[in-house]
Amino acid sequence: MRKHNFGAGPGILPESAVRKTQEALLDFNGTGMGVMEISHRSKDFDAVLSKAKLLVKELLHVPDSHDVIFLQGGASQQFAMVPMNFLKTKAAYIEQGTWSSKAIKEAKNIGEVVVIASSKDKNFSYQPTGYSIPKDVDYLHICSNETIHGTQVKNFPDSPVPVICDMSSDIFSRPVDISKFDLIYAGAQKNMGPAGVTLVILKKDAAGKHGKKLPAIFDYKTHLDNNSVYNTPPVISILVCMYTLEWLKSMGGVDGIQKVNSQKATLFYNEVDSNPMFTGTAEKNDRSPMNACFLLKDPALDEEFLNLTKKAGIVGIKGHRSVGGFRASMYNALPLESVKVLVNAMKEFANVKA
Ligand SMILES: *Cc1c(COP(=O)(O)O)cnc(C)c1O
Repeated sequence: MRKHNFGAGPGILPESAVRKTQEALLDFNGTGMGVMEISHRSKDFDAVLSKAKLLVKELLHVPDSHDVIFLQGGASQQFAMVPMNFLKTKAAYIEQGTWSSKAIKEAKNIGEVVVIASSKDKNFSYQPTGYSIPKDVDYLHICSNETIHGTQVKNFPDSPVPVICDMSSDIFSRPVDISKFDLIYAGAQKNMGPAGVTLVILKKDAAGKHGKKLPAIFDYKTHLDNNSVYNTPPVISILVCMYTLEWLKSMGGVDGIQKVNSQKATLFYNEVDSNPMFTGTAEKNDRSPMNACFLLKDPALDEEFLNLTKKAGIVGIKGHRSVGGFRASMYNALPLESVKVLVNAMKEFANVKA
């Protein structure tokens, strides 16, 4: 029996994708070799790479102006690669939580950074709005979903400068207009596949314009020109992404899954708001459908609640070590049924304690 996995990352994967991977581990496509043992330049892997790329393009309606590459090093490597490739004089960043703060820190190692808006004053419980974007910066960096604080950007700004976005924890969860961004990056392990691969969608003519002598491995142009096989890519991670995206397509694509995600979020947040034992931590309008942060009004009961959920087969709801409380991550592959189980546990807890 699989658990109700509310883990924040690595997150739950569709069971069908895991089962197909299980088969591919021993004998991939009847080659008599496991997928971890085949050449990354073989026609079998080439087909995987093309299919994965095609699915990304199809599911997100990536325009012809943009291309898709698969890198390693996680979203954290992108915190550094973005300024290495795009920061010439200065860059604007929005400080929305732990992840964007890390992106800021890394960019400061490369050049001048202006933080044009922040929600630090209220412990990152809301998304900054109403800021103006300076015209004299190389780009604006924004994080679409702050995984640790449970807030999401609902409307992306109209920007006079190129926008670069960290979509690690909500990519493929809702439709986005890719043409509004010069670059989007996402560590795969939240909503797209396993760790080890990082998705980058970038505007083709924006790559390679840095005018610097960069190590080839950190230059987007290298990976763009070599179709993600400049060096050995994480073959198995890309395969699991492909299976996961096939599953997503079978669920009606991004539009289809958004409906389910919204049902899950509504069900969960309604319970948080109506149950006298609990409270949500994020500003209501900015709440993330992917990561729901909540507290017991009496933290002395935390352990007891955790035990009750454990008995119901729920795992991964402890809040991030930096903020405490609880967090229910409801990524694409988490079934509505799991949210029902959690909501019932919350109701039961309130009944027991009443
Ligand atoms: C998890 C996460 C990261 C870090 O990802 P790694 O792949 O572990 O480097 C960065 N940004 C966001 C929004 C995340 O959720």
